[in-house]
Amino acid sequence: MTKPQRDGIDAAAAASTEPIIIAEQVCKSFGSTQVLAGIDFDVTAGEVAVVIGPSGSGKSTFLRCLNALETVDSGRIRVSGSDVGYTLRDGKFYEWGSTEYAQFRLGIGMVFQRFNLFNNMNALENVACGPVKVKGVSKKEAKERAQELLEMVGLGSHGHKYPNQLSGGQQQRVAIARSLAMDPSVMLFDEPTSGLDPELVDEVLEVMKSLARVGMTMVVVTHEIGFAREVGTSLTFVDGGVVVEKGDPRTLIANPQNSRTQQFLSKVL
Ligand code: ADP
Ligand code: MG
Repeated sequence: MTKPQRDGIDAAAAASTEPIIIAEQVCKSFGSTQVLAGIDFDVTAGEVAVVIGPSGSGKSTFLRCLNALETVDSGRIRVSGSDVGYTLRDGKFYEWGSTEYAQFRLGIGMVFQRFNLFNNMNALENVACGPVKVKGVSKKEAKERAQELLEMVGLGSHGHKYPNQLSGGQQQRVAIARSLAMDPSVMLFDEPTSGLDPELVDEVLEVMKSLARVGMTMVVVTHEIGFAREVGTSLTFVDGGVVVEKGDPRTLIANPQNSRTQQFLSKVL
C-alpha cells in the first residue's frame, strides 16, 4: 500500500475538527447564588460560536471561566487539549499557579463591552505595548505589527490619537487590534457593541466579520442577531446558567424549539 502523500495536510485537517474549547458540566456559584448550573459547550477551530441569553443568565461568568479569570467550582474546561487550571502529570492533577494562569490567558483574547484602553497611550502604543511587555518583542517590530493591525481594523491613519480623541466604535476597534496583537488562538467577545451608540455598532461588527472570514476562532456574546445569522457557525441560548438550546443560527432563529428561546428571541428580533 502506498503511503498517503499529504500527511501534514491530513493531520492538520483532522486536528481542525477537534474542538479547541470543550466545557463539560461547568458549575459556578458566588456565595449562595448559583450562576452556572452545568454548562456544556464546545467550539471547533475556525468556528464563530454566538451566545445569547437574558441579562444575569451567566454569559459573562462563563466567558470569564473560559479564559480562567474565574475558577470553576465543578466540571471541566479544556482548551487546545489541556485542562484549564490543572496539569495532568503521572496520572495526578496539579493545580496551576499564577505563572501558568498568566501564560494561559496570553493565548486567549478578550474584548469587553467597555474598551479598557490605556488613556495615557495613543492607539498605536495601546496595540504595541502587550507584545513588548510580556512577549519580549522589540518596540520597532511591535509598532510595525500594531500599524498593520490598526489598518486591518480600518484605523491605519489614527495610530497617533489618544482614546479620548476616538469615538466609541474606534476605541473598540483599537481594543480588538490590541487583543489580536497577542496572537491569540481564540477570541472571546463579551457584548462588544452594547456600549456603543447605534450608528457605531456596524463598524465594530464589520471588523468581527472580517476576523470570522479569515478563520479566527471566536466566542461572541451578543444580542446582534443579524451577526449570528450572517457569520455564526452555532448559536447557543443560555438561561439560568444552563444551555437551553444550541443549533445552527439560521435554523434556531427561524424555528426555536424551547419556549424560553422563543420568548427571548421574540424580544430581541
Ligand atoms: P450575564 O453576563 O448573562 O448578564 P453574569 O455572568 O454577568 O450574567 O452574571 C450572572 C449572575 O452572577 C448575576 O446575578 C451577577 O450579579 C452574578 N455575579 C457575577 N459576577 C459576580 C461576582 N464576582 N460576585 C458575585 N456575584 C456575581
Ligand atoms: Mg454579561
